[in-house]
Amino acid sequence: MPFVDLPPSKQSAENLVGGRFVAAEGGALDIKSPYTGQAIGTVGLSTARDVDAAIAAAAAAWPSWSATPIKERTVPLFRFRDLLLRHLDELANLVAAESGKTRDEARAGILRGVEVVEYASSLQNADAGGALEVSRGVSCEYRREPLGVVLGVTPFNFPAMVPLWMFPIALTVGNVFVLKPSEKVPLSACRLGALMNEAGYPPGVFSIVHGARETVEALVDHPDLAAVAFVGSSAAAKSVYVRATSHGKRALCLGGAKNILIVAPDADEELTIKSVVDSFTGCAGQRCMAGSLLVAVDGAGQLIPKIAEAAGRLKLGPEMGALIDRGARERLVRAIDRAQADGAQILADGRAAAAPSGYEGGNWLGPTVIDGARPDMECATAELFGPVLTAIRVGTLDDALAIERQNRYGNATAIFTQTGSVARRVADRSTSGMLGVNIGVPVPRDPFSFGGTKDSKFGQGDITGRSAVDFWSNVKKVTTKWAMQKDANWMS
Ligand code: NAD
Repeated sequence: MPFVDLPPSKQSAENLVGGRFVAAEGGALDIKSPYTGQAIGTVGLSTARDVDAAIAAAAAAWPSWSATPIKERTVPLFRFRDLLLRHLDELANLVAAESGKTRDEARAGILRGVEVVEYASSLQNADAGGALEVSRGVSCEYRREPLGVVLGVTPFNFPAMVPLWMFPIALTVGNVFVLKPSEKVPLSACRLGALMNEAGYPPGVFSIVHGARETVEALVDHPDLAAVAFVGSSAAAKSVYVRATSHGKRALCLGGAKNILIVAPDADEELTIKSVVDSFTGCAGQRCMAGSLLVAVDGAGQLIPKIAEAAGRLKLGPEMGALIDRGARERLVRAIDRAQADGAQILADGRAAAAPSGYEGGNWLGPTVIDGARPDMECATAELFGPVLTAIRVGTLDDALAIERQNRYGNATAIFTQTGSVARRVADRSTSGMLGVNIGVPVPRDPFSFGGTKDSKFGQGDITGRSAVDFWSNVKKVTTKWAMQKDANWMS
């Protein structure tokens, strides 16, 4: 059985404007499957005119959509959830074909996205607002109001899940949404757009604009755009955040990560080896929650060769997917070369791994474990974004926590231990937004919200959960009095 089914003919990723797919005017790029290097389609590059057209169609849809009661707005979302589940295998295959994930990983990511759809569906009952008689004859009421035309900019590594973090909640609270997917994986976004049409969302409520940096900048600068959520690398996240907020727009921009797995000497061996290997090799390490720096405390260092051995047994293709492009592979090979030149030992060497038969044109790198690194080395500080684990050996838990606190990123930290007080100390002193205890990929599930700290996030709040409801809306406070009360006080 092939690892993925590539589309039988080249597909073209078009913009979704006013409910119809239309070609962008600024030329096109090839979309290449990471599995084979073959072009499987093309993606349009949108010009300022394309951006204007999409935002105008969205703005035209907004008055009616925002005036629709939330219970009615939720009806197409229920249909959309059913469609996602009905088309799960097909969508997972497409996500895998264009991003390099295995089909199982793609499926798991979509199902996480479905959980956000379910959370958004619950808002019609859960987000009832509140009212209180604050003084005799005077009531105060909370009303949630949408912002208008809003934008989501998404990365290559979760072609369906990260868009699903954003638009179900943004739309349900009454915004109209424009998605700018990664130009490397635009086909999954188009499929989501077709399913949104089929679910019955009115034209213009959900739009897609393809392109790269210039398109994002034109969208963010557009005077009719109210807010932007961004997920991608830290440099781009910061630049979008600064640009949007300089226009006075609301922005929440999630960036990259260097997630730390601290292993205490009493960690359960079997659980720790499996969790660490899954964490750094899952999605070929191309996950913002991948554990990429292992800090072994004292006797826990004996696990490092065992982790390297277990990772080295993974089969490229069925058990670990491919890197997004050739450039990513070259960048990773250079980083491993530099770590070796700087004196670290390569315990598992993915540079030498052979491509699976029939997939020689793909972007393959085997799991790699770098041991004996120093905390200041590039492999210990930079986000490499591939199946590469850097290991540092330290004497005490506080040495490990000192490394954690110096990390410029703040997505996730995990501690592997069987002692509650050790876990507690790490929970108290670590600086990341998401902490795992004996869990290598501590992604909070809805209704808990997803978001990091430091250079992993620019802006307030988180991208999912209650925090996202607040991000995509304003809360209006209405204070009302209908008649003068006989027993009026100063407030009446
Ligand atoms: P990327 O920053 O290259 O691209 C992300 C999106 O931004 C794409 O749509 C791209 O077209 C656009 N873009 C790129 N450069 C831009 C710029 N200078 N200005 C405006 N827009 C720009 O990221 P990527 O390579 O697609 O994704 C991988 C990165 O995303 C990793 O750093 C990973 O850690 C991060 N990521 C973070 C999270 C999170 O939740 N924190 C989740 C997934 C991925």
